[in-house]
Amino acid sequence: MLHRKPFAKILVVLIGILAAVSLLSAEPAQAAAKAKNVIVLIVDGCSAEQYTFARWFKGAPLSFDPYRVGAVKTHIADSVIADSAPAASAFATGLRTSDKFISVGPHKETITGVAAPPEDLRYRPLATVLEGAKLLKKATGIVATSRVTHATPAAYMAHTPSRAAEDDIMEQAVHQGINVVFGGGKRHLVPKEFKGRRIDGDNLYEALKRWGYTIVENKANMQKVTGSRVYGTFAHSHMDPEIDRPRLHPDQPTLEEMTRKAIEILSQDPDGFFLMVEGSQVDWACHANDPAYMLSDLLAYDKAVAVALDFARQDGKTLVLAVSDHNTGGFSIGNYASDGIYPQMKVEALLDPIRKMKSSAAFMWSQIETDKSAARVQSVIKEGWSLDITEDEAGKILDRSKSFKDDAYFVIGEVLCPKYTYVGWTTHGHCGGDVPLHAFGPGKPSGVLGAPEIGRVCAAAMGFDLEKLNRRLFVEAAEAFEAGNVALDKSDPANPVVKIASGGKTAELPVNKNLLKMGEKMYALEGVVVYAPNTGKAYIPLQAVNMIRGIRQSLPKIEN
Ligand SMILES: [Zn+2]
Repeated sequence: MLHRKPFAKILVVLIGILAAVSLLSAEPAQAAAKAKNVIVLIVDGCSAEQYTFARWFKGAPLSFDPYRVGAVKTHIADSVIADSAPAASAFATGLRTSDKFISVGPHKETITGVAAPPEDLRYRPLATVLEGAKLLKKATGIVATSRVTHATPAAYMAHTPSRAAEDDIMEQAVHQGINVVFGGGKRHLVPKEFKGRRIDGDNLYEALKRWGYTIVENKANMQKVTGSRVYGTFAHSHMDPEIDRPRLHPDQPTLEEMTRKAIEILSQDPDGFFLMVEGSQVDWACHANDPAYMLSDLLAYDKAVAVALDFARQDGKTLVLAVSDHNTGGFSIGNYASDGIYPQMKVEALLDPIRKMKSSAAFMWSQIETDKSAARVQSVIKEGWSLDITEDEAGKILDRSKSFKDDAYFVIGEVLCPKYTYVGWTTHGHCGGDVPLHAFGPGKPSGVLGAPEIGRVCAAAMGFDLEKLNRRLFVEAAEAFEAGNVALDKSDPANPVVKIASGGKTAELPVNKNLLKMGEKMYALEGVVVYAPNTGKAYIPLQAVNMIRGIRQSLPKIEN
């Protein structure tokens, strides 16, 4: 745990000496742990062919090239093709789960050769390696260029069967006590009256201030900030694509800058740290079949990995993993236009058209949307991608765009890449192949791993056991106290509270928070309270079980 300024007065009352001293296990992390720090960098929706393309464009090896150690099998419990929620959940928890699920157990019998989950695992919150690091008193951090509530970062911070439940995800993230959170997603911190989207009326900025966070909203303030708890929300929704950012929002930090700052803050902790960094938007660029957007975000990720590797090489006690959750777009170097010429293809022929692209397709579409004429399409494409397209092609773009809903901009790359570039795409969705794995430092794996092994490698490197962690963080309340004593109070439907009757008193545990109220006192818990709507089960930390029962005993260790 980082040393931090004493909490604001309200928190001194809130936390209570009882919880802080007698009931929390105070044992330090096991000295035998192989890695003091773990940094996981995930480039969403990317695979080997994109790396090759980025290397040609960079004209030099990628920062992680020397550390390719194997590959990761990406399938999920119920599909051969992964989406980010279950894919990142496997990385975070060491278990395969179902589509849309954020670090909760799978829902049913599976179809990919994965063993069917036992009844009590279904929808059960699965403890994450970030939560384990926290219990070992390590500092923790999350960096992304999407909303921090988006699937990949969410899987490390929260537990819900719906990746769309971003209000719940943000609430859990705020109550996890994560030292550094950098990314987009401001809208899930506040309700409508503060221009946000929360429907429960909570202003989570207030909670962040109570927990002692410094809040930063632009690059300059991020770079100046000191202290051990920093929440950086740099965009209302997602941060900008790297290709548009310098023009549209130069005040947003780059992925590299966020990663460097996060490591600077987290590495102050004498117990070490866990950090997850996501290059969130290579996936979206590939969904859009947009090669320049893909390339600029991939090279931004390359720089962030370089920062992590520089730190790890100097430190010598840091495990760095650089991996993808799945591939997207079926990107290829070569397409039908290169059929006749590929044995003589020059690097410049491949790169020149891409070098001239200065905007994302999404940005260009925002300019076309307001005036859907062929002339407008032609001038926007000329400006953004330096292409002189014909009136016919402009018409084809407008025509084809009608078959997309919110994603009309996908049409630009789909129509123009086959004619004006030598890069190919096979889909606007995800792909099911293995993805390359890069690793450096103590405890690094090798070979072809299943996605869940990434989570187990992280836990093992830090020296803890995910099973023990699960038993400590998520006790089913009705099992501990008997069903008749546990109820979900939905009198405020947007803010449900788990109520537990024990010893003639009632304990209250608000869902998605780390709080326990007994009598007039409020205590901070070491984990969040999770309610599983599909099964009606509530899960609370073992610490809360002991406190409600009045048992003053140290909690079981999670170390191996
Ligand atoms: Zn995707």
